[in-house]
Parts: sequence; structure tokens; C-alpha cells
Amino acid sequence: MAILDELVAAVGAGNVLTGAETAAHVRDWMGKYHGSPLAVVRPGSTAEVAACVRAAAAAGVPVVPIGGNTGLVGGTMSVGGLMVSLERMNRIREVRPAARLVIAEAGVVLQRLHEAAEAAGLYFPLWFGARGSAMLGGVLSTNAGGSNVLRYGSTRGLCLGLEVVLADGRVLNLMSELHKDNSGYDLKQLFIGAEGTLGIITAAVMKLVPLPLAHATAMVSARGLPQALDLLNRMQAATGGRVEAFEFMPANYSRRLAEVRPDLGLPFGHIPEVTILIEAATTVETEARPGPDGAVPLVALLEGVLAEMLAAGLIDDAVLARNEEQRAVMWARREAAAQIAVGMEPAVDTDVCLPLDRVEAFLRAAEARLDVLDPGCRQLTVAHLGDGNLHFTVFPTRNDPALKDAVMDAVEDVVQALGGSFSAEHGIGLSKLPSMRRRKDPVALDVMRAVKAALDPKGVMNPGKVIPAPG
Ligand SMILES: Cc1cc2nc3c(=O)[nH]c(=O)nc-3n(C[C@H](O)[C@H](O)[C@H](O)COP(=O)(O)OP(=O)(O)OC[C@H]3O[C@@H](n4cnc5c(N)ncnc54)[C@H](O)[C@@H]3O)c2cc1C
Repeated sequence: MAILDELVAAVGAGNVLTGAETAAHVRDWMGKYHGSPLAVVRPGSTAEVAACVRAAAAAGVPVVPIGGNTGLVGGTMSVGGLMVSLERMNRIREVRPAARLVIAEAGVVLQRLHEAAEAAGLYFPLWFGARGSAMLGGVLSTNAGGSNVLRYGSTRGLCLGLEVVLADGRVLNLMSELHKDNSGYDLKQLFIGAEGTLGIITAAVMKLVPLPLAHATAMVSARGLPQALDLLNRMQAATGGRVEAFEFMPANYSRRLAEVRPDLGLPFGHIPEVTILIEAATTVETEARPGPDGAVPLVALLEGVLAEMLAAGLIDDAVLARNEEQRAVMWARREAAAQIAVGMEPAVDTDVCLPLDRVEAFLRAAEARLDVLDPGCRQLTVAHLGDGNLHFTVFPTRNDPALKDAVMDAVEDVVQALGGSFSAEHGIGLSKLPSMRRRKDPVALDVMRAVKAALDPKGVMNPGKVIPAPG
């Protein structure tokens, strides 16, 4: 085919994969989507990405960008399209400690950004379980969140500049290093969270922050969610907003964790209704240096808040991490979330966001709705509670598509009534299209379609994702 010859000319024969050679790219992390693309190409530069996009556009072949393929909504699924893998665009161009920024290509794996920042005495504060595979272009395109959003914001807030190959092959250079630039529309924000539907991100300028010198980490058994929020707010006040993570594991999560990962143990002798993983961090030397009694002041501060709440009967128990090893075990319990859900089928995954003080109301109302809709169905929840973001997974009693859709609809109803969103951090891809159609403001959908039509009039870029077809 002419297009394959053009691609070979653009990136070299070894970087145009077809048939069985595409096996490593076509199956998503969950094993839920399995594509059959025309080819997978691996360009090594922005010019090569542009050449691939031009060749595909001329042949009317859809273009599907792919990073680490850890996305959870089917965004990289392709049948007959050209998958453009950014894996060879993996150079960290510059780390500039004085300006607190890093300039990197889209195929740089998140963990390498962490390592490069740390080597410069700094921190790249985007942190989640898939950090060993997810790539910069992918996290930007999904506007990924994770465990540190509470303190540092999501990917969107960490980006200063972008380079994007547009659907017609032109390169949009928005590689600003500026913290202020009011010269018209902030175009980079259009491409962040667009899941590859508007262009291919090839490079970015990202912010770095000071590297924490010490962490205070604890697992806490709270009386209920209001008391857990009280803990969060007390620690924020006590530390000047230095809580970095505030994760919620209800009893259904702890029970499943104990079954699947008994090696990780549980923090308490019983399984509490509300287990919280709280972590604060400091970059202040005097808060990080152990005193004469060996205690790290930040840890002592958390201990003091916990003791106060224990005495007031607001929490039942708490365990502090006394060293890095204990801290790692606490995080392993939280980051086992994806692993412990694997194999539990049929499942309806949700990724919802609520105002923090309505999370409890959501859980009560959703469980009540589900008891009526599908008596006997089970749930598994884990949450970035500090952001109001819950991964509330329902396991219906039968693998019936109509029932699964009714479950999703019921959860969306409750979320909407409480002022929440059906999509917090994983994006829309293919799997959330029905929710997008049902729940997104129709005017907002019209505006999205207008933006898409303006930037990609031939519908080349990742078609069929994010925006539901009209009607
Ligand atoms: C174990 C695990 C834990 C996770 N935890 C979290 C979490 O806590 N918080 C969170 O937010 N997410 C989490 N995720 C999902 C997260 O969204 C993805 O891991 C990540 O952001 C996607 O990066 P990727 O490189 O794998 O992108 P991919 O999966 O390859 O792609 C994702 C989407 O972006 C598009 N895309 C990829 N690269 C580009 C590019 N260069 N230009 C334009 N479009 C592009 C793709 O077409 C697709 O639509 C988790 C996933 C796993 C497997």
C-alpha cells in the first residue's frame, strides 16, 4: 500500500510495524480492548510525527497516538488506523533547576522524569501506580491526576508549554517557559485532556517543585468520613497545607486486599469501615531534621494531631510509618488497587468526583440505589479522598449489558444530583462515551464538536473517542 511505503520513507522500515509485530501495542493495560491497526509507527522526531500524520491524512487513515498504553478507558483502541507510538521520542532535553522546569519529549516515561528531577534536587509531583510505564504525552493527553493532586494539582496545572503536531501535519509551537502569558487564548489547555483527538503532543515544558526532605505517613482508622475530613483539615491547618495525599480505603477494599495480597498485611487488628492513608511532606530543613529524641518534627506534628483526635473519639486507631520501609508497605496497600480488582467480572468501573463533604452522601445513596436495582451486587471502592475522587466499582450479579448500563446510569444519577462529575481523572476514551452523551451539558458538547471541526475538519485524529456522535 502506498501509505506504508510513505511511512517507511518517513521513519525507516524498522519503525513501521504490521501484523504480528504490533502485538505489544494493540492490547490495553486492562486487557479489555484489542485493536487491529493498519500499522504501528515509531517516529523519532517531531518532523517524523508530522510526516506520518500527513501521510495518514492524505490516505484518509485515522491516527491514534499511543504512549505507555496504561489508559483505562480504551483511548488507544484502533481498528484499521495508524497507531503513532511516541516511545522513541524519549529525550529529556533540559532540566533547569534555577527556573524549576524540565523540557522533555512526549515519550519520556513518568518515572524517568521523577529520576531526572531528583538528580537535580527537585521533584516532579505527578505520582500514580502506572508511573513506570505511562509517558509524558499520555499523562498530558489524559490530564492525569493521582495521589498528589491535593497539593500540586493535576497534570494541567504542571504544564507551562507544549509542542503539538496538528491534524494537517503543521507543528504548533507553544513551548513557553512562562508563568504568565496573556497573549490570547491559552491554546495548550485545549490539547491537555483531549486524549489525542485534536493533535499529537510531541514535547512539553513541565514545572518542578522542591524535593521533600521528609514525609509523615500514617494509616488511620476513622469513625466515619466526616471525621476523616476533620483529620485532613486539621493537618492542613497544622502544616500550612502540606498534606500531599489523603487516600480512602473502605472495608470492602481492605477485605479484598487481605484476600489477594495477604503478604502486605493490614494495619489494624480489625477491618475498619474507614481506613485513611495520610501523607504530609516538608521541604523545610528544621521540620525534617530529627531532634535529640530521634523524632522528625513533621512526624511528631502528625502524631500530635492524631493523639488529639484519638482522645476526642474521632478516630479509633492510627499507625505511623517510622521508616521508609513501613511507608512503602502503606503505599503498596493503596497501589494494589488495580491488581486486586483484576479478574473480578463482570464489573462496572466508575471514576467520579464529588464535593468533599458529599462523598458520604454519595456512597449511601449509590448503595441504596444499587440494592434495589441489583440486589446482591458487590462494590469495591478506593478514593483520592482529598480530591473527592472515588473509583467506585460495582460488580453486578449477571453479565448483562443492559444491567451494567443501568448500574452506570444509576451511579451517574446520584453523582449528578450531588453536584459531581462522572469522570474525574481517567478521561472518556471509548468506555465513557455513553456517560458523556447522557450527562455532559449539550451546549458544551456542541462547543467541543466545533473545536474538533476547526482543528481536525477531516476527523483524522483519534476519531470516535471523547465526543459522542450527535443525536
Ligand atoms: C495501575 C494504574 C494506576 C493508575 N492510576 C491513575 C491515577 O491514580 N490517576 C490517574 O489520573 N490515572 C491513573 N491511571 C491511568 C492514567 O490515565 C494513565 O496511566 C496515563 O495517564 C496515560 O498515559 P499513557 O502514556 O499510558 O497513555 P496511553 O494509555 O498510551 O494513552 C492515553 C490516551 O492519550 C492519548 N495519547 C497518548 N499519547 C499521546 C500524545 N503524545 N499526544 C496526544 N495524545 C496522546 C491516547 O490516544 C489515549 O487516548 C492508572 C493506570 C494504571 C494502569
